[in-house]
Amino acid sequence: MLDSQLSYAPMCKPYSSCENLRVKLALLFIQRHNRFPMECTVLTSSKSAGIANGLTYEAPEGSVGIGSPVLVPLRNKTTEGIVISLNEKQEQKFDVKGIRAALSKDPLLPEYHIQTLRWIADKYFCSLRQAIRVFLPSLSWKDLLPKETKTYRLTGSPEKLRGRKQLEVCEFLAGRDAVEVSVLRKATGCSIATLRSLVEKDLLTEEISTEEEQTPKAEISRPNLTSDQKKVAAEISDSKLPSLLFGITSSGKTEVYAELIANAIDAGKSAILLVPEILLTEHCIHRFQELLSPERVCTIHSRLTGSARKAAWRSIRAGNIDLVIGSRSALFSPLKNLGLIVIDEEHEWTYKNEQTPRYHARETAEALCGFAGAKLLLGSATPSLESWKRAKDNHYHLTRLPERYLGKELPTVSVVDLAEVTFGDLYPFSPSLLTAIENRLNKGEQSILFLNRRGVATALLCLECRRRIVSPDSQLPFTVHKGIGGRPRLVDHTTNLTIDAPEECPHCGSKSLHEVGAGTVRVEDILEKRYPQARILRADKDTLQHPEHMRLLLKKMRENQADILLGTQSVVKGLDLPNVTLAAVLLADVGLSLPHFRAGERIFQLLTQLTGRSGRAKPGEVIIQTFRPEAPEVLLAASHKTEEYIESELKLRAHTGYPPVSKMVRLILRGDNAGTRAQKLAASIQGQLHISAAPTLFGGGRIWHVLLRGEDPKAILKDLDLTDVVVDIDPIECI
Ligand code: ADP
Ligand code: ZN
Repeated sequence: MLDSQLSYAPMCKPYSSCENLRVKLALLFIQRHNRFPMECTVLTSSKSAGIANGLTYEAPEGSVGIGSPVLVPLRNKTTEGIVISLNEKQEQKFDVKGIRAALSKDPLLPEYHIQTLRWIADKYFCSLRQAIRVFLPSLSWKDLLPKETKTYRLTGSPEKLRGRKQLEVCEFLAGRDAVEVSVLRKATGCSIATLRSLVEKDLLTEEISTEEEQTPKAEISRPNLTSDQKKVAAEISDSKLPSLLFGITSSGKTEVYAELIANAIDAGKSAILLVPEILLTEHCIHRFQELLSPERVCTIHSRLTGSARKAAWRSIRAGNIDLVIGSRSALFSPLKNLGLIVIDEEHEWTYKNEQTPRYHARETAEALCGFAGAKLLLGSATPSLESWKRAKDNHYHLTRLPERYLGKELPTVSVVDLAEVTFGDLYPFSPSLLTAIENRLNKGEQSILFLNRRGVATALLCLECRRRIVSPDSQLPFTVHKGIGGRPRLVDHTTNLTIDAPEECPHCGSKSLHEVGAGTVRVEDILEKRYPQARILRADKDTLQHPEHMRLLLKKMRENQADILLGTQSVVKGLDLPNVTLAAVLLADVGLSLPHFRAGERIFQLLTQLTGRSGRAKPGEVIIQTFRPEAPEVLLAASHKTEEYIESELKLRAHTGYPPVSKMVRLILRGDNAGTRAQKLAASIQGQLHISAAPTLFGGGRIWHVLLRGEDPKAILKDLDLTDVVVDIDPIECI
């Protein structure tokens, strides 16, 4: 009965400290069938780089499937692993070891996850072992299996028993229902061996159960869509392609998502809704808990504790969740029957993971939906150039909501040229902005003020040529600090280069250099002094450590317990607050450290978000303060011409050869000799004349980048020595 492999693979000690596991393993061993062993590739949890793409093992036919969690021998140890493919048995292969055990009959990850895993490793140039991190929220994979409980029940008559302990156990169980093993052992002090022998004598039966109890599905209530929203929802359902919903702010995109999510759940499927910022999930989950039953909706974000995250993951895997709402990592929730993924504000840059695997949630969702047979819906008021181009190329289905809900007007937008304003102590508040704020305070309406930075950070700007003083090391704007004796010093925070502030502009020689910046702390000070009666809320990453803080803040705004909400863009965009009639950005162009070619797009998106915050329920106003009032992104955002902006920017990218018209790869080098290594790398690329990728060196100090751009810059990576080099495919940030 026990096959020869068993003697080769004895029961593994380190992993069988859990008794349940041992019993289960034994069961699975017995089912083994050694005559037709098959082979499988197993990705182990081992960190060794050499085996980061899996190893071949033998397994009895039918004992494992794709995604199965297994134990395998590795060197002299037993290691956890997951089956990533099943292979035909190769003849004459030597030294292929057998798996030790399958840890569960069910796959740990659904097959579409294993397919996505391979896709990520291939697309983002990393190992499977690196890629699998985002799928499994625990270092111990076994921990993610359903928690098992073992119970004993008395089913025979103990009359002939001799052993005192055995009798004691039977007496304890007599008249009781099934008793959990830990309870039984505590009460009687019996050993596992005692229980086992009682089971063998047919006196007790042993039952192993998992915690996968199902919470019942509840009634779904549906939103009441307008006829335009209905049309859009139907179109999206009908299209087989990924859909891009281009809907202006407050057009009701969220309502359309709700309808489609309800449809999916009604059809017995599950859904994922990705939002760009975890603090905004609070806003969103509320809406969806109203529609669905709250216990079947779950949120996943980076502020969850490890154990909360694991519990959520297990509950999703067990089929207890219909809708997962979360930031980008929620994409990897192991839902059964995945029917729909919605990515709200798909243009947001937070969808790019800035650690290995450096995936983009939008791209990855598209692949994942393909494997899962699910629908992808992207929504935005300012679609990314990437998605827009795909829609134009008929790779995505494009649909529009060009009107606000109930035909509400977009707010009127005015642009203030900051170079024309004399400030005094009130910088960066222009007189017209102050008037507008006072106006709101008098009327009992609310204002939202957008800032670029938390803290007090400032840059040095030339009012003549309107350029910032940038660091020669990194090409990024210097930050102004107070030096000894009050003389300003300029610091490059990426390289720590520090210099005295110059007297004259290095670009044009003008002496009108101005410290510009609007950190939240400083702006709050100014407001408090000027309007002591105003109730001011500050929303930035310092004041909001947890979604709960955001919830309280939103509650205060909704209940009119606050007059002014002051926040960094990342925190205040996307809010839906009816009594806000003024939204302003204090400095539309300073403080964004961006690769040059994406700066305009980002500012446009920010300004459009700004116009979306004001006048959602009653007529509103928007003020843009900027040093570059003539820039196309400012002018077109002020006149709500989104499509015109995207089209013109796309033409510009085509002309200059930047993404999405070309492709980009960033190679990141860190460490003491990063500069020399980067130069060598760039030179070796330049040497390959058949390649159309132009390397650009960028950086300074301990971090260097080599940027490759062209039709297929990734193709040359395989010829490079990339030891200690981080590869970033389709990079967004360049610092
Ligand atoms: P978007 O996501 O496009 O910015 P929202 O979905 O947040 O827009 O909708 C804006 C506002 O209009 C919200 O307060 C929302 O409740 C309301 N709204 C939109 N569509 C409807 C609808 N069909 N029925 C009721 N309220 C709606
Ligand atoms: Zn100048």
